[in-house]
Amino acid sequence: MQKNFIVAIDGPSGAGKSTIARRLAAHLGGVYVDTGALYRAVAVYIKQRGVSPENEAEIARCLSAAPPAIELRQGADGQCVFLNGIEVTREIRLPELSTLTSKIAQSSAVRAFLLDAQRQAARSAPFAVLDGRDIGTVVLPDAPVKIFLTASAEARAERRTAELLAQGVSVRYEDILRDNIARDKRDAVRTTAAPGAYIVDTSALSFDESFDKILDEVLRVREKE
Ligand code: C5P
Repeated sequence: MQKNFIVAIDGPSGAGKSTIARRLAAHLGGVYVDTGALYRAVAVYIKQRGVSPENEAEIARCLSAAPPAIELRQGADGQCVFLNGIEVTREIRLPELSTLTSKIAQSSAVRAFLLDAQRQAARSAPFAVLDGRDIGTVVLPDAPVKIFLTASAEARAERRTAELLAQGVSVRYEDILRDNIARDKRDAVRTTAAPGAYIVDTSALSFDESFDKILDEVLRVREKE
């Protein structure tokens, strides 16, 4: 394998990006970088500072005056997220935090703050899989493999509800669907397939079917590199 082979997986929330990306990284011996977790950690930070997600000037001021230290660490049960040394792995998955994150993700100061962190994380290993919204379009447009993973809003809400219930978080499908639709609207401008991206609609596919399609694409490109 060539040095620093990068797979960029973009798409709307709940399309299965993180599960596929994690398994792909494990299967091929690479690192997985959950860029949504970085945005979520910044949202926790902004909340802690008592700043409104609409106050762009204050968000920019906070990020430059006291930049938060955000770390993704591999724990025994998966990836753990730390904000200024304190673990926020569970907190960042709460539904209200998802809504807050999509609001602060509209801030150009937040996006600029996380750009280098994402690029550095991608280049920190010989093989990296990143999932997010604009990885193939903005963060790493030169990534040799760009995937756009999508699914209907209903299929995505069903999966996210099951995932949260399994984690012991009490949620209702209707609320998740409504929040997802609102989040999709805010994220829509950024969530586009990169030119030449391999597009996979997972609505009617099982996890294994989606995974196999993507693995085939990665192996096809890797052979040519
Ligand atoms: O992927 P996840 O649902 O964890 O992302 C949470 C939010 O972070 C998204 O709704 C989106 O607003 C933002 N995000 C982003 N760009 C990324 C990753 C996440 O804007 N690369």
